[in-house]
Amino acid sequence: TTDALREEERKAWLDKDRRYVWHHMQPYAASRNPLIITGGDGAWVTDLEGNRYLDAMSGLWCVNLGYSEKELAEAAYDQLRQMPYYPLTQSHLPAIALSEKLNEWLGGDYRIFFSNSGSEANEVAFKIVRQYHAQNGEPTRWKFISRYRAYHGNSMGALAATGQAIRKQHYEPLAPGFVHVPPPYCYRCPFGKARDACDLECASIFEQVIQWEGPETVAAVIMEPTITGGGVIVPPPEYMKRVREICDRYGVLLIVDEVICGFGRSGKPFGHQNFNVEPDLVTMAKGITSAYLPLSATAVRAELFDAFKDDHPYAHLRHVNTFGGNAAACALSVRTLELMEQRKLVDRARELGEKLERLLEPLRNHPLVGDLRFFGFMAGIELVIDKQRKTPAPADVVGRVIAACKNRGVLIGKNSDTVPEQNNVLTLAPPFVISDEELEWLAKVVIEAVREARR
Ligand code: PMP
Repeated sequence: TTDALREEERKAWLDKDRRYVWHHMQPYAASRNPLIITGGDGAWVTDLEGNRYLDAMSGLWCVNLGYSEKELAEAAYDQLRQMPYYPLTQSHLPAIALSEKLNEWLGGDYRIFFSNSGSEANEVAFKIVRQYHAQNGEPTRWKFISRYRAYHGNSMGALAATGQAIRKQHYEPLAPGFVHVPPPYCYRCPFGKARDACDLECASIFEQVIQWEGPETVAAVIMEPTITGGGVIVPPPEYMKRVREICDRYGVLLIVDEVICGFGRSGKPFGHQNFNVEPDLVTMAKGITSAYLPLSATAVRAELFDAFKDDHPYAHLRHVNTFGGNAAACALSVRTLELMEQRKLVDRARELGEKLERLLEPLRNHPLVGDLRFFGFMAGIELVIDKQRKTPAPADVVGRVIAACKNRGVLIGKNSDTVPEQNNVLTLAPPFVISDEELEWLAKVVIEAVREARR
Protein backbone atom coordinates (compact mmCIF):
# COMPACT_ATOMS: atom_id res chain seq x y z
CA THR A 1 0.00 0.00 0.00
CA THR A 2 0.98 3.65 -0.32
CA ASP A 3 1.24 3.87 3.45
CA ALA A 4 3.63 0.95 3.56
CA LEU A 5 5.68 2.58 0.83
CA ARG A 6 5.75 5.81 2.71
CA GLU A 7 6.79 3.94 5.80
CA GLU A 8 9.65 2.44 3.80
CA GLU A 9 10.65 5.83 2.43
CA ARG A 10 10.63 7.33 5.91
CA LYS A 11 12.82 4.55 7.18
CA ALA A 12 15.25 5.07 4.31
CA TRP A 13 15.62 8.77 5.18
CA LEU A 14 16.16 7.95 8.82
CA ASP A 15 18.76 5.32 7.94
CA LYS A 16 20.61 7.81 5.77
CA ASP A 17 20.42 10.43 8.48
CA ARG A 18 21.98 7.98 10.93
CA ARG A 19 24.64 7.13 8.44
CA TYR A 20 25.62 10.59 7.22
CA VAL A 21 24.50 13.46 9.45
CA TRP A 22 26.31 14.58 12.59
CA HIS A 23 23.74 16.40 14.71
CA HIS A 24 24.71 19.52 16.61
CA MET A 25 25.06 19.21 20.38
CA GLN A 26 23.21 15.88 20.61
CA PRO A 27 24.28 12.86 22.64
CA TYR A 28 24.66 9.75 20.52
CA ALA A 29 21.39 8.05 21.50
CA ALA A 30 19.23 11.16 21.05
CA SER A 31 20.83 11.91 17.72
CA ARG A 32 19.63 8.55 16.39
CA ASN A 33 16.01 9.62 16.65
CA PRO A 34 15.87 13.19 15.42
CA LEU A 35 12.81 15.05 14.34
CA ILE A 36 13.21 15.21 10.58
CA ILE A 37 11.40 18.39 9.67
CA THR A 38 9.95 18.65 6.19
CA GLY A 39 7.70 21.69 6.32
CA GLY A 40 6.62 24.72 8.26
CA ASP A 41 3.60 26.94 8.54
CA GLY A 42 3.47 30.00 10.80
CA ALA A 43 4.68 28.92 14.23
CA TRP A 44 4.35 25.23 13.32
CA VAL A 45 6.68 22.61 11.87
CA THR A 46 5.82 19.23 10.34
CA ASP A 47 8.00 16.14 10.53
CA LEU A 48 8.55 13.27 8.11
CA GLU A 49 5.67 11.30 9.66
CA GLY A 50 3.26 14.19 9.26
CA ASN A 51 3.23 15.13 12.97
CA ARG A 52 2.81 18.85 13.58
CA TYR A 53 4.48 20.71 16.40
CA LEU A 54 4.10 24.25 17.67
CA ASP A 55 7.70 25.43 17.81
CA ALA A 56 7.86 27.40 21.04
CA MET A 57 11.62 27.94 20.60
CA SER A 58 11.56 29.44 17.08
CA GLY A 59 14.21 26.88 16.13
CA LEU A 60 17.19 28.17 18.06
CA TRP A 61 15.58 31.47 19.18
CA CYS A 62 15.65 32.74 15.60
CA VAL A 63 12.68 32.06 13.29
CA ASN A 64 10.87 35.13 14.60
CA LEU A 65 8.61 35.56 11.56
CA GLY A 66 7.61 31.91 11.51
CA TYR A 67 8.19 29.21 8.92
CA SER A 68 6.13 30.34 5.94
CA GLU A 69 6.80 33.99 5.11
CA LYS A 70 6.76 34.01 1.32
CA GLU A 71 7.92 37.62 1.10
CA LEU A 72 11.24 36.64 2.63
CA ALA A 73 11.74 33.82 0.14
CA GLU A 74 10.87 36.24 -2.67
CA ALA A 75 13.30 38.90 -1.46
CA ALA A 76 16.11 36.34 -1.58
CA TYR A 77 15.01 34.97 -4.97
CA ASP A 78 14.78 38.42 -6.55
CA GLN A 79 18.23 39.35 -5.29
CA LEU A 80 19.76 36.03 -6.39
CA ARG A 81 18.53 36.69 -9.92
CA GLN A 82 19.65 40.31 -9.91
CA MET A 83 23.13 39.89 -8.41
CA PRO A 84 23.85 36.84 -6.26
CA TYR A 85 27.24 37.68 -4.83
CA TYR A 86 30.01 40.15 -4.61
CA PRO A 87 32.55 40.35 -1.77
CA LEU A 88 32.33 43.17 0.71
CA THR A 89 35.93 44.14 0.08
CA GLN A 90 33.89 46.36 -2.29
CA SER A 91 30.15 46.86 -1.84
CA HIS A 92 26.66 46.08 -3.09
CA LEU A 93 23.23 47.66 -2.75
CA PRO A 94 21.62 45.23 -0.27
CA ALA A 95 24.56 45.66 2.15
CA ILE A 96 24.24 49.43 1.92
CA ALA A 97 20.48 49.37 2.41
CA LEU A 98 20.74 47.00 5.36
CA SER A 99 23.51 49.01 7.04
CA GLU A 100 21.31 52.09 6.85
CA LYS A 101 18.34 50.21 8.27
CA LEU A 102 20.37 48.73 11.12
CA ASN A 103 21.42 52.25 12.04
CA GLU A 104 17.75 53.27 12.18
CA TRP A 105 16.97 50.33 14.44
CA LEU A 106 20.00 51.05 16.63
CA GLY A 107 19.27 54.77 16.82
CA GLY A 108 22.96 55.67 16.72
CA ASP A 109 25.85 56.16 14.33
CA TYR A 110 27.40 52.76 13.61
CA ARG A 111 29.53 51.18 10.89
CA ILE A 112 28.44 47.65 10.05
CA PHE A 113 30.70 44.65 9.40
CA PHE A 114 28.88 41.58 8.05
CA SER A 115 29.59 37.89 8.74
CA ASN A 116 27.49 34.70 8.71
CA SER A 117 26.97 33.67 12.32
CA GLY A 118 26.73 35.06 15.81
CA SER A 119 30.06 33.49 16.74
CA GLU A 120 31.80 35.23 13.87
CA ALA A 121 30.17 38.54 14.72
CA ASN A 122 31.66 38.25 18.21
CA GLU A 123 35.10 37.25 16.88
CA VAL A 124 35.06 40.35 14.67
CA ALA A 125 34.13 42.48 17.67
CA PHE A 126 37.10 41.10 19.66
CA LYS A 127 39.52 41.81 16.83
CA ILE A 128 38.20 45.33 16.24
CA VAL A 129 38.40 46.14 19.95
CA ARG A 130 42.00 44.93 20.34
CA GLN A 131 43.13 46.76 17.23
CA TYR A 132 41.22 49.89 18.21
CA HIS A 133 43.06 50.06 21.53
CA ALA A 134 46.40 49.36 19.86
CA GLN A 135 45.84 52.11 17.32
CA ASN A 136 44.56 54.42 19.99
CA GLY A 137 47.86 54.21 21.88
CA GLU A 138 46.86 51.49 24.38
CA PRO A 139 48.26 48.23 22.97
CA THR A 140 48.21 46.47 26.36
CA ARG A 141 44.42 46.41 26.49
CA TRP A 142 43.66 42.90 25.32
CA LYS A 143 41.46 41.22 27.96
CA PHE A 144 37.72 40.69 27.77
CA ILE A 145 35.36 40.28 30.69
CA SER A 146 32.18 38.23 30.32
CA ARG A 147 29.77 36.47 32.66
CA TYR A 148 29.50 32.89 33.83
CA ARG A 149 26.45 31.17 32.32
CA ALA A 150 26.46 33.31 29.18
CA TYR A 151 26.92 31.79 25.74
CA HIS A 152 28.70 33.79 23.05
CA GLY A 153 29.44 31.18 20.39
CA ASN A 154 31.30 28.07 19.35
CA SER A 155 34.60 29.33 17.88
CA MET A 156 37.81 29.48 19.92
CA GLY A 157 37.40 33.14 20.94
CA ALA A 158 33.62 33.19 21.34
CA LEU A 159 33.76 29.94 23.30
CA ALA A 160 36.46 31.45 25.51
CA ALA A 161 34.04 34.31 26.23
CA THR A 162 31.32 31.78 27.02
CA GLY A 163 30.83 31.07 30.72
CA GLN A 164 29.58 27.47 30.54
CA ALA A 165 32.14 24.95 31.71
CA ILE A 166 31.02 21.74 30.06
CA ARG A 167 30.78 23.34 26.63
CA LYS A 168 34.53 23.91 26.81
CA GLN A 169 35.59 20.45 27.92
CA HIS A 170 37.77 18.72 25.34
CA TYR A 171 38.31 21.92 23.37
CA GLU A 172 40.70 23.80 25.61
CA PRO A 173 43.03 25.61 25.49
CA LEU A 174 40.84 28.29 23.92
CA ALA A 175 41.85 31.85 23.09
CA PRO A 176 43.62 33.45 26.05
CA GLY A 177 42.56 36.74 27.62
CA PHE A 178 38.99 36.03 28.76
CA VAL A 179 38.00 36.66 32.36
CA HIS A 180 34.61 35.79 33.86
CA VAL A 181 32.49 37.36 36.57
CA PRO A 182 29.31 36.01 38.24
CA PRO A 183 25.98 36.68 36.50
CA PRO A 184 23.21 38.98 37.82
CA TYR A 185 21.25 35.96 38.96
CA CYS A 186 18.79 37.28 41.54
CA TYR A 187 17.16 33.90 42.25
CA ARG A 188 20.53 32.47 43.28
CA CYS A 189 22.42 35.66 44.03
CA PRO A 190 26.15 34.84 43.82
CA PHE A 191 26.68 37.52 46.49
CA GLY A 192 24.11 36.07 48.90
CA LYS A 193 21.80 39.09 48.64
CA ALA A 194 18.00 39.13 48.55
CA ARG A 195 16.25 40.35 45.41
CA ASP A 196 15.75 44.14 45.46
CA ALA A 197 17.77 44.44 48.70
CA CYS A 198 21.30 44.76 47.40
CA ASP A 199 23.81 47.30 46.11
CA LEU A 200 24.10 45.70 42.68
CA GLU A 201 27.21 43.80 43.72
CA CYS A 202 26.82 41.88 40.43
CA ALA A 203 27.59 45.16 38.61
CA SER A 204 30.25 46.48 41.02
CA ILE A 205 32.21 43.24 40.60
CA PHE A 206 33.23 44.51 37.17
CA GLU A 207 35.04 47.42 38.79
CA GLN A 208 36.78 45.12 41.25
CA VAL A 209 37.87 42.72 38.51
CA ILE A 210 39.07 45.54 36.25
CA GLN A 211 41.19 46.80 39.12
CA TRP A 212 42.51 43.33 39.96
CA GLU A 213 43.39 42.61 36.33
CA GLY A 214 44.91 46.07 35.86
CA PRO A 215 42.73 48.57 33.99
CA GLU A 216 45.45 49.11 31.38
CA THR A 217 45.05 45.43 30.33
CA VAL A 218 41.26 45.35 29.93
CA ALA A 219 39.87 45.88 26.43
CA ALA A 220 36.13 45.33 26.73
CA VAL A 221 33.19 43.79 28.50
CA ILE A 222 30.90 41.55 26.45
CA MET A 223 27.37 40.90 27.66
CA GLU A 224 23.90 40.02 26.49
CA PRO A 225 21.17 42.38 27.79
CA THR A 226 19.63 39.29 29.39
CA ILE A 227 21.49 35.99 29.55
CA THR A 228 19.29 33.95 27.23
CA GLY A 229 20.52 30.42 26.47
CA GLY A 230 22.21 30.32 29.87
CA GLY A 231 18.76 30.27 31.52
CA VAL A 232 16.89 33.55 30.84
CA ILE A 233 18.75 35.39 33.59
CA VAL A 234 17.21 38.87 33.64
CA PRO A 235 19.35 41.54 35.36
CA PRO A 236 18.03 44.17 37.78
CA PRO A 237 16.86 47.27 35.85
CA GLU A 238 19.89 49.43 36.76
CA TYR A 239 22.54 46.73 36.24
CA MET A 240 23.55 47.39 32.67
CA LYS A 241 23.77 51.14 33.19
CA ARG A 242 26.02 50.60 36.18
CA VAL A 243 28.31 48.35 34.13
CA ARG A 244 28.39 50.97 31.35
CA GLU A 245 29.46 53.63 33.89
CA ILE A 246 32.24 51.38 35.18
CA CYS A 247 33.43 50.72 31.62
CA ASP A 248 33.52 54.46 30.95
CA ARG A 249 35.47 55.15 34.12
CA TYR A 250 38.23 52.71 33.10
CA GLY A 251 38.37 53.23 29.33
CA VAL A 252 36.87 49.77 28.75
CA LEU A 253 34.57 49.27 25.75
CA LEU A 254 31.15 47.63 25.96
CA ILE A 255 30.20 44.95 23.42
CA VAL A 256 26.52 44.03 23.61
CA ASP A 257 25.69 40.59 22.22
CA GLU A 258 22.20 40.99 20.72
CA VAL A 259 22.30 37.69 18.86
CA ILE A 260 19.13 36.53 20.63
CA CYS A 261 17.81 39.70 22.30
CA GLY A 262 17.93 41.78 19.11
CA PHE A 263 15.22 42.37 16.51
CA GLY A 264 12.23 42.58 18.80
CA ARG A 265 12.71 39.54 21.02
CA SER A 266 13.16 41.84 24.04
CA GLY A 267 10.06 43.88 23.26
CA LYS A 268 12.23 46.71 21.89
CA PRO A 269 14.21 46.77 18.65
CA PHE A 270 17.33 45.82 20.65
CA GLY A 271 17.62 44.42 24.15
CA HIS A 272 19.94 47.10 25.50
CA GLN A 273 17.30 49.73 24.68
CA ASN A 274 15.35 48.42 27.68
CA PHE A 275 18.16 49.62 29.93
CA ASN A 276 19.02 52.99 28.48
CA VAL A 277 22.65 52.31 27.65
CA GLU A 278 24.65 53.01 24.53
CA PRO A 279 26.99 50.17 23.53
CA ASP A 280 30.28 50.66 21.69
CA LEU A 281 29.74 47.54 19.61
CA VAL A 282 26.61 45.50 18.98
CA THR A 283 26.72 41.97 17.60
CA MET A 284 23.64 40.45 15.97
CA ALA A 285 22.53 37.37 14.01
CA LYS A 286 19.52 34.99 14.21
CA GLY A 287 16.49 37.32 13.97
CA ILE A 288 18.35 39.54 11.49
CA THR A 289 17.00 37.29 8.71
CA SER A 290 14.48 35.42 10.85
CA ALA A 291 16.98 32.59 10.14
CA TYR A 292 15.88 32.18 6.51
CA LEU A 293 19.52 32.68 5.43
CA PRO A 294 22.77 32.92 7.42
CA LEU A 295 23.82 36.48 8.23
CA SER A 296 25.32 38.35 11.15
CA ALA A 297 26.61 41.82 11.82
CA THR A 298 28.99 43.65 14.09
CA ALA A 299 27.91 47.27 14.51
CA VAL A 300 30.73 49.57 15.63
CA ARG A 301 30.33 53.13 16.90
CA ALA A 302 31.54 55.58 14.25
CA GLU A 303 34.18 57.08 16.58
CA LEU A 304 35.86 53.67 16.86
CA PHE A 305 35.83 53.26 13.10
CA ASP A 306 37.73 56.54 12.88
CA ALA A 307 40.72 54.96 14.66
CA PHE A 308 41.15 52.85 11.49
CA LYS A 309 41.43 55.88 9.20
CA ASP A 310 45.21 56.04 9.16
CA ASP A 311 46.76 55.16 5.80
CA HIS A 312 49.51 53.06 7.37
CA PRO A 313 49.40 49.68 5.55
CA TYR A 314 48.55 47.75 8.72
CA ALA A 315 46.14 50.27 10.22
CA HIS A 316 43.04 48.84 8.59
CA LEU A 317 41.01 45.90 9.83
CA ARG A 318 42.63 42.85 8.26
CA HIS A 319 39.54 40.68 8.32
CA VAL A 320 37.59 39.32 5.38
CA ASN A 321 34.76 36.82 5.29
CA THR A 322 33.96 35.35 1.87
CA PHE A 323 30.26 34.82 2.46
CA GLY A 324 29.78 37.58 5.04
CA GLY A 325 27.08 40.00 3.93
CA ASN A 326 25.86 37.74 1.12
CA ALA A 327 23.67 39.85 -1.15
CA ALA A 328 20.59 37.63 -0.93
CA ALA A 329 20.91 37.38 2.85
CA CYS A 330 21.17 41.19 3.13
CA ALA A 331 18.16 41.72 0.84
CA LEU A 332 16.19 39.17 2.83
CA SER A 333 17.21 40.92 6.04
CA VAL A 334 16.04 44.31 4.76
CA ARG A 335 12.68 42.70 3.93
CA THR A 336 12.54 41.08 7.38
CA LEU A 337 12.96 44.46 9.04
CA GLU A 338 10.48 46.16 6.69
CA LEU A 339 7.84 43.52 7.43
CA MET A 340 8.48 43.92 11.13
CA GLU A 341 7.99 47.67 10.81
CA GLN A 342 4.82 47.37 8.68
CA ARG A 343 3.30 44.78 10.98
CA LYS A 344 4.52 46.44 14.19
CA LEU A 345 6.02 43.13 15.27
CA VAL A 346 8.27 44.61 17.95
CA ASP A 347 5.19 45.92 19.77
CA ARG A 348 3.45 42.62 19.09
CA ALA A 349 6.38 40.70 20.63
CA ARG A 350 6.16 42.86 23.75
CA GLU A 351 2.40 42.28 23.97
CA LEU A 352 2.82 38.55 23.50
CA GLY A 353 5.47 38.48 26.22
CA GLU A 354 3.15 40.25 28.64
CA LYS A 355 0.40 37.83 27.77
CA LEU A 356 2.65 34.81 28.21
CA GLU A 357 3.61 36.10 31.65
CA ARG A 358 -0.07 36.35 32.66
CA LEU A 359 -0.84 32.91 31.23
CA LEU A 360 2.02 31.18 33.06
CA GLU A 361 1.28 32.89 36.37
CA PRO A 362 -0.44 29.75 37.80
CA LEU A 363 2.94 27.98 37.66
CA ARG A 364 4.43 30.33 40.24
CA ASN A 365 2.95 28.36 43.14
CA HIS A 366 3.74 24.96 41.74
CA PRO A 367 6.17 22.97 43.92
CA LEU A 368 8.45 22.24 40.96
CA VAL A 369 8.77 25.87 39.90
CA GLY A 370 11.46 27.79 41.77
CA ASP A 371 11.49 30.88 39.62
CA LEU A 372 9.65 32.25 36.59
CA ARG A 373 11.48 34.82 34.51
CA PHE A 374 10.39 36.89 31.53
CA PHE A 375 12.16 39.28 29.19
CA GLY A 376 10.24 40.55 26.19
CA PHE A 377 8.84 37.50 24.44
CA MET A 378 10.94 34.88 26.18
CA ALA A 379 10.43 32.93 29.36
CA GLY A 380 12.58 30.87 31.69
CA ILE A 381 10.95 28.40 34.07
CA GLU A 382 13.48 27.27 36.66
CA LEU A 383 12.58 23.82 37.97
CA VAL A 384 13.53 22.72 41.50
CA ILE A 385 12.69 19.66 43.56
CA ASP A 386 12.88 21.48 46.89
CA LYS A 387 11.55 25.01 46.78
CA GLN A 388 12.99 25.98 50.16
CA ARG A 389 16.50 24.81 49.35
CA LYS A 390 16.21 25.68 45.64
CA THR A 391 17.60 22.27 44.73
CA PRO A 392 17.80 22.20 40.92
CA ALA A 393 15.54 19.59 39.32
CA PRO A 394 17.61 16.74 37.87
CA ALA A 395 17.81 15.99 34.16
CA ASP A 396 15.12 13.30 34.22
CA VAL A 397 12.51 15.69 35.66
CA VAL A 398 13.42 18.43 33.17
CA GLY A 399 13.38 15.82 30.40
CA ARG A 400 9.93 14.59 31.44
CA VAL A 401 8.43 18.06 31.11
CA ILE A 402 10.01 18.56 27.70
CA ALA A 403 8.78 15.12 26.57
CA ALA A 404 5.27 15.75 27.91
CA CYS A 405 5.12 18.97 25.87
CA LYS A 406 6.36 17.19 22.77
CA ASN A 407 3.79 14.42 23.20
CA ARG A 408 1.11 17.11 23.17
CA GLY A 409 2.62 18.77 20.09
CA VAL A 410 4.73 21.57 21.56
CA LEU A 411 8.51 21.94 21.27
CA ILE A 412 10.11 23.80 24.16
CA GLY A 413 13.77 24.25 25.15
CA LYS A 414 16.03 24.26 28.17
CA ASN A 415 19.09 26.21 29.19
CA SER A 416 22.39 25.16 27.73
CA ASP A 417 25.08 23.22 29.49
CA THR A 418 26.43 25.31 32.34
CA VAL A 419 27.30 22.32 34.49
CA PRO A 420 25.25 19.11 34.51
CA GLU A 421 23.41 19.92 37.74
CA GLN A 422 22.28 23.37 36.58
CA ASN A 423 20.45 22.52 33.37
CA ASN A 424 17.10 23.03 35.02
CA VAL A 425 15.59 26.02 33.24
CA LEU A 426 12.87 25.44 30.64
CA THR A 427 12.91 28.08 27.93
CA LEU A 428 10.25 29.52 25.64
CA ALA A 429 10.76 31.97 22.78
CA PRO A 430 7.98 31.44 20.23
CA PRO A 431 7.75 33.11 16.82
CA PHE A 432 6.16 36.57 16.82
CA VAL A 433 3.54 35.34 14.34
CA ILE A 434 1.93 33.05 16.90
CA SER A 435 -1.78 33.81 17.41
CA ASP A 436 -3.37 34.60 20.76
CA GLU A 437 -5.20 31.26 20.70
CA GLU A 438 -2.01 29.35 19.92
CA LEU A 439 -0.23 31.11 22.77
CA GLU A 440 -3.06 30.24 25.18
CA TRP A 441 -2.88 26.62 24.14
CA LEU A 442 0.92 26.60 24.43
CA ALA A 443 0.75 27.94 27.99
CA LYS A 444 -1.91 25.36 28.88
CA VAL A 445 0.28 22.55 27.56
CA VAL A 446 3.35 23.76 29.48
CA ILE A 447 1.36 24.03 32.71
CA GLU A 448 -0.08 20.52 32.24
CA ALA A 449 3.37 19.13 31.44
CA VAL A 450 4.87 20.58 34.63
CA ARG A 451 1.96 19.24 36.69
CA GLU A 452 2.35 15.81 35.08
CA ALA A 453 6.09 15.71 35.82
CA ARG A 454 5.31 16.22 39.50
CA ARG A 455 3.21 13.06 39.72
N1 PMP B 1 25.67 34.80 21.08
C1 PMP B 1 24.52 34.40 21.61
C2 PMP B 1 23.91 35.19 22.72
C3 PMP B 1 23.89 33.24 21.15
O1 PMP B 1 22.76 32.82 21.70
C4 PMP B 1 24.49 32.52 20.10
C5 PMP B 1 23.85 31.25 19.52
N2 PMP B 1 22.93 30.60 20.27
C6 PMP B 1 25.69 32.98 19.57
C7 PMP B 1 26.25 34.13 20.06
C8 PMP B 1 26.39 32.25 18.46
O2 PMP B 1 25.66 32.32 17.30
P1 PMP B 1 25.91 31.25 16.12
O3 PMP B 1 25.36 29.94 16.56
O4 PMP B 1 25.14 31.86 14.97
O5 PMP B 1 27.36 31.23 15.86
